[in-house]
Amino acid sequence: MTIASIGTSPPSLSDDLFRKIVTEMEDGIIVLDERGVILFCNASVEDLFLHAPESLVGQPLEVVLPPRSRKNHHQHLSGFANGPADARYMGSRNSFIVGYRADGTEVNLGATILRMLTEDGLIFVAVLRDLTERHGYQYQLEQLANTDPLSGLNNRRAFTNLASRHIARCREIHAPVSLTLFDVDHFKSINDRYGHDIGDTVICEFANLLKSATQAGDLLARWGGEEFILLMPEANLVRSGAIAEMVRRNVQVLEFGQPNGLNLRITVSAGVICSTEADETLDNMIRRSDHALYAAKEGGRNRVTLAGPRQTLAALA
Ligand code: GH3
Ligand code: MG
Ligand code: MG
Repeated sequence: MTIASIGTSPPSLSDDLFRKIVTEMEDGIIVLDERGVILFCNASVEDLFLHAPESLVGQPLEVVLPPRSRKNHHQHLSGFANGPADARYMGSRNSFIVGYRADGTEVNLGATILRMLTEDGLIFVAVLRDLTERHGYQYQLEQLANTDPLSGLNNRRAFTNLASRHIARCREIHAPVSLTLFDVDHFKSINDRYGHDIGDTVICEFANLLKSATQAGDLLARWGGEEFILLMPEANLVRSGAIAEMVRRNVQVLEFGQPNGLNLRITVSAGVICSTEADETLDNMIRRSDHALYAAKEGGRNRVTLAGPRQTLAALA
């Protein structure tokens, strides 16, 4: 037998073998008639829905669907019955089936749904897999990819992804959006004097202080090193400037490094800008904040500089 003939003429598999595969496989299999009534379930269905398979036979599929999706289920089934495809796969983060278990809990399921015409009419075969573990891993991976491990804040990648959405929404509603860069002053000397671990503690404590200064809807991230970035949707320059100034003052009077037995004083500088022009890009906003921050450093540090005409908060008062 040539390789080509193996491909074109598979050995015929006995019904017994097919039955064994279906019975033993880890995926749940449910066969439905055209009306959505369950004709057959394999043993693995019990792990998915906590119903004995034989108790499901003769029941409508709705018994394993959450109440909220029961109404639309027939529509989906008849759409599939009359659609062009004989198979449909749902198994991604965005497309999956929610199953309803006998104990009232829900389970996310990946599903391959097949449509077949038999002597007795149209049937549907659903091959179902529990996605809970996979979704859990995906969530953990996303968290890892988006989080700064030291401070627990968003990292630069997450910030860049999320900021564009916030900015677009502000543009839509013609609202301002403010951006602030914070940078700890003379941080290198903290590392040099007390060591890197103490430096890490200071970064974490400063991150927590920033977190407590933000409101719902703000987007805070560790931009790199001892530099943090805060996007405040719908905030004008006076408001974002006031928040930055509050942070600066609080930092100035707090003692850092206490978990390590130290009472360190640090100061922070900030560059604040507000964007109202519909076509200003995130890159440009960051550039302007960076210039403002540079001006704060040049101006002597421990200060907040607002973009545009170089002014400190004192000049606003
Ligand atoms: P300036 O007032 O101009 O901001 O001076 P600076 O010393 O704060 O700034 P510089 O950029 O010279 O130094 C920042 C230091 O931050 C250098 C780097 O070793 C340190 N650093 C960056 N990331 C980390 C970190 O994760 N942990 C610690 N402990 N130090 C870090
Ligand atoms: Mg610094
Ligand atoms: Mg820096």
